[in-house]
Amino acid sequence: MSIRVGIGVDAHALERGVPLVLGGVRFDFDRGLAGHSDGDVLAHALVDAVLGAAGLGDIGSLFPSDDARYHGASSLDLLREAYRQVNEAGWTLVNADCILIGEQPRIAPHREEMRRCLSEALGGGEVNVRATTTDHLGFTGRGEGLAAHAVALLERA
Ligand code: MG
Repeated sequence: MSIRVGIGVDAHALERGVPLVLGGVRFDFDRGLAGHSDGDVLAHALVDAVLGAAGLGDIGSLFPSDDARYHGASSLDLLREAYRQVNEAGWTLVNADCILIGEQPRIAPHREEMRRCLSEALGGGEVNVRATTTDHLGFTGRGEGLAAHAVALLERA
């Protein structure tokens, strides 16, 4: 059996006047994630996890932040495109797990919808979405931003 694991990490600042999108789902929240795209840290961490597992570089090399095509892009579309390239390289997703780090918002009401959206972008593979806090420590604890970690397991198609 040929399998590969990859890891992804991301963080973005929370700003007023920006819609919050996490795992491809729009949250009702007073701030959103600033970024070149929609700032979806869960999708970005997953992009890097699947690219890393396939040995295909990172999100910055695939979707450069100075490329106007990705300004305001849906990160689910970026994840879809990254996974298309992973597929093309001969790999399919076994499963992925991602963790959002921050005190707010609560993800439970949107967890299943986020899992569905992320799974759909990853060819229907199993995606788990969880969240944790840092006991008010650091930038996530102070509510200045959100971070995410993800791991993905791929197998030879
Ligand atoms: Mg990012």
